[in-house]
Amino acid sequence: MIDFKGLPQPPDAPAAGSCVRVERPEAGLALVVLDPPHRKIAVFDVPLLRDLEAAIEGLAQDPKLRGLVITGREPLSFAAGADIETISRISDPELANKFVRSGQALFQRIHRLSRGGGGRWLVVAAVGGPVPGGACEIALACDRIVLADHPKSRIGLPEVQLGIIPAWGGTQRLPRRIGVAAALGAILTGKLHVPRQALRMGLVDRLTPPESLVRVASEIAMGRQACPYLGRSGMRKALIDRTALVTKFMANRAREQVLRETRGHYPAPLAVIPLITEAPRRDLEQGLAAEAAAVRPIATGEVARSLLGLFQLSDEAKKTGSLPDGKRAAPIERAAVIGAGIMGGGIAGLMAERGLEVRLRDLDRKQLDAAVVAHQAEIEKKRKRKQLARHEADGALDRLMVTTEAQGFARCQLVLEAVAEKLEVKRAVFRELAAQMDAEAILATNTSSLSVDAIAEGLPNPSRVVGMHFFNPPRKMPLVEIVRGPRTSEEVVRRTARLALDLGKTPVITKDVAGFLVNRVLGPYLDEALRLVGSGVDPDAIDRALVGFGMPMGPCELVDEVGLDIAMHAGASLEKAYGERMRATQILKPLLDGKELGKKTGKGLFTWRPGKSGKPEKDGVNARLARGSTRAMTADDIVDRCVLAMANEAVRCLAEQVVDGPRALDLATVFGTGFAPFRGGVLRYADSRGLAQVVERLERMRSEIEREGERLGRYEPAPLLAELARAGKKLHAA
Ligand code: NAD
Repeated sequence: MIDFKGLPQPPDAPAAGSCVRVERPEAGLALVVLDPPHRKIAVFDVPLLRDLEAAIEGLAQDPKLRGLVITGREPLSFAAGADIETISRISDPELANKFVRSGQALFQRIHRLSRGGGGRWLVVAAVGGPVPGGACEIALACDRIVLADHPKSRIGLPEVQLGIIPAWGGTQRLPRRIGVAAALGAILTGKLHVPRQALRMGLVDRLTPPESLVRVASEIAMGRQACPYLGRSGMRKALIDRTALVTKFMANRAREQVLRETRGHYPAPLAVIPLITEAPRRDLEQGLAAEAAAVRPIATGEVARSLLGLFQLSDEAKKTGSLPDGKRAAPIERAAVIGAGIMGGGIAGLMAERGLEVRLRDLDRKQLDAAVVAHQAEIEKKRKRKQLARHEADGALDRLMVTTEAQGFARCQLVLEAVAEKLEVKRAVFRELAAQMDAEAILATNTSSLSVDAIAEGLPNPSRVVGMHFFNPPRKMPLVEIVRGPRTSEEVVRRTARLALDLGKTPVITKDVAGFLVNRVLGPYLDEALRLVGSGVDPDAIDRALVGFGMPMGPCELVDEVGLDIAMHAGASLEKAYGERMRATQILKPLLDGKELGKKTGKGLFTWRPGKSGKPEKDGVNARLARGSTRAMTADDIVDRCVLAMANEAVRCLAEQVVDGPRALDLATVFGTGFAPFRGGVLRYADSRGLAQVVERLERMRSEIEREGERLGRYEPAPLLAELARAGKKLHAA
């Protein structure tokens, strides 16, 4: 019996025996169905593990057993992996080890079950829908894996993305099954594989339509249908994986790459490398013990806490797509996008790919043509990578209609405008559409700096005007700010958030204040970086310091990426709204006057030249600025100047309730600004520094800057920050 004592239980734990059903559809065959009554989708929490163990123990005593299938309550609903809630509640490394050992022991029991039959009958995992992490690991412990062939099916081990490691045998069984090189790739990227990819790499043994999943798996389990094991059994390949010299080389290469990409901030990918590369040379039990030992420091460490926290936050964000009474908001099926530029073109393409009928309008035919070409290229890329089947790709292309006409929008349930950033132009677009659309149809604006309420002014029914602020590039960036104007109805907010979720984005609801949340906190951060450049600090040194801190790209490069003209415009509108505290530096003005606008013109803070892949590559600091690089500053001081300016503004946003609490704020900073994910968000970072220290540092920087002859209110500690620091409290209450 596995000892589950001391492990956290869900608050709504159901009665023993209720999470797993054993069905006997015919003599000798057993179906083990994961069907916990307290979960919409099964997750491996203590009640499920306990009931699964009881079911397996019962079956192990049955001498008449001739085949076993492990499956979920529906073909496309198997299990979502280990329970994140349980993992994040475990703070004792020994308890983490115990949780891992319990799962390992249970999966080993399953793995050994059919051996008594001498290979004449099998344990088959019949899985479908998302099969991540622990769900994939239980499948790997079975003799064969049958996967439902459906666009919703995805299988893999994404744990390292959450700061943890696949420790229910994942690092041991995956390399045995698909080889060390492929397992390194799969586990380090945390990728979830679509059915055909999974079959090709030997991660699963058979694909079948969802409706025949259990039947086919049963036939295979009973030995009536052949199903060769597709894991690598070739002698040559197995030999390579057992050669220490080769796997050592692979391990070194992987380590170098991980360090290059993560700068050592993330311990989980580094910890899995030796586990994977040594797996084929180890006895399985030994490997499992090594895996469990590696979990101790990692699962309870700061990075895992931050990343698991973010995962939970993005899960919580899904609630924004439901009405306050818990009912899901109605989906949008037919949408229009006005403006086929950088933003509109990308958003319309994404909508079409995700199943919406989209009508994209621009005044300029060339812009429409370019948007269609970009959409075709994107869909073709996904089709080639087998992420979309041919009929899905065809559907995605057919659903995007483009037009220069002003008519034909009557049936659209939502229109998103992404035209020029001018109040009058946006109002005119909405006026024209409101006249032909249903009175309830949603009018959403992608504005980044105008007030949603001002755009709604004068329209019939302003309660249906809402901000839907995507980030550039819209297909890639995970966050969408849903901006609630003072007159926007709750239903419109929720339905727009639901659309963002349906597009695969994470919505955060914000107030209609200048810069909303993300650009408002990004403003002082970028401006500080530019001020440092103005005072003689080398832009390269600034970028290195912040990338070292964990930002995906340095602030100077980001300004070049966004475009100096757009950055200056955004800075000016923040200054207009917030005054002295956001005063924007003018150091970019000479570059702007010289039409050096960043990447798009080949020169900005840096010089850019076309690289081998056709993409611009950095070619040193712009000579105009390089000449002024005279001031040395430590990386820590650079980070504090930029990041604490952001943190201080973030606390003001918190006090003004720009978003719903510190959790949503942190989520938005990570997903919207790329704020170092392993630090869990800007407020969490301030908490980890200690608020008293943050206040002290802000005050010190304020006097330094004053000595340099500037007065800048942005280093005046936000009143809420000062108050919490005095009281010895944190921004995150818990
Ligand atoms: P863009 O200049 O690339 O595209 C605007 C498009 O709108 C052009 O194709 C233009 O022909 C078209 N257009 C202008 N007036 C029109 C009208 N009356 N009817 C139909 N089409 C019209 O601009 P963009 O960068 O895609 O920005 C669009 C909006 O998105 C702006 O409000 C901007 O503030 C916002 N935004 C931009 C970014 C960004 O990084 N580019 C990020 C977030 C939000």
